[in-house]
Amino acid sequence: MLSLRNLHARVGDREILKGLTLEVPAGEVHAIMGPNGAGKSTLSYVLTGRPGYEITDGSAELDGVDLLSLEADERAAKGLFLSFQYPLEIPGVPALTFIRTALNAQRKARGEPEMSAPDFLKRARACATDLKMDFDMLKRPLNVGFSGGEKKRMEILQMALLSPRFMILDETDSGLDIDALRIVSDGVNALRGPDRSMLVITHYQRLLDYIRPDRVHVLADGRIAASGGPELALELEREGYDKYARAA
Ligand code: ADP
Ligand code: MG
Ligand code: MG
Repeated sequence: MLSLRNLHARVGDREILKGLTLEVPAGEVHAIMGPNGAGKSTLSYVLTGRPGYEITDGSAELDGVDLLSLEADERAAKGLFLSFQYPLEIPGVPALTFIRTALNAQRKARGEPEMSAPDFLKRARACATDLKMDFDMLKRPLNVGFSGGEKKRMEILQMALLSPRFMILDETDSGLDIDALRIVSDGVNALRGPDRSMLVITHYQRLLDYIRPDRVHVLADGRIAASGGPELALELEREGYDKYARAA
């Protein structure tokens, strides 16, 4: 499903991704772990098409489609979703309006009819209940004044409503207490399926007790330095990233 080959990317005059190769087949959940500054968030921004990131070599395909030639909104319409490490606040735009606008823009780009307001509200209510969010929160401007944990739930709620095919979670566990972690993980796990894949970026093994990955990769100095099964995450928790940082 997602195929990255020898990806090189820079911000300004600094090369951050230095030949990253990765395959995530349909239906699989892969974890990316790595030290701070390794390029994990940069990878998620490069994939979703955030401005300011220059790709200097390599390729990125989703279902055989060249992602790098598409605009950010076209990538979203193809089913790519990023849950931000630091979710954006959007003053003046109620969360519900924001999500419904994004959903209908994506449906339009795919040639699908708009979702009606009553259908959307019904689904939004059900998702909010699952994530133990007060529905009235969705009427407030997106993320403005939300706590860290509330923002992360809001990300997962958006993800559930947009039902993307490929999801990138960038440090969704940061700022969550154990109860919130469980609720958010349940929400993520509910989205797993044979046609969907996920890249779960995390600094800590803890999240992977809740969202069990098929594969674990170490990202160090802009490349995949090692890959393995879930046991690799446990090894990293025990031994840290030093040996990969040195090797890189
Ligand atoms: P991670 O998410 O793995 O902690 P990032 O992808 O956020 O790492 O950052 C990788 C490196 O790129 C860091 O050294 C960071 O300082 C640098 N970097 C990220 N964004 C920018 C930017 N806009 N300008 C300059 N350097 C940046
Ligand atoms: Mg970081
Ligand atoms: Mg990061």
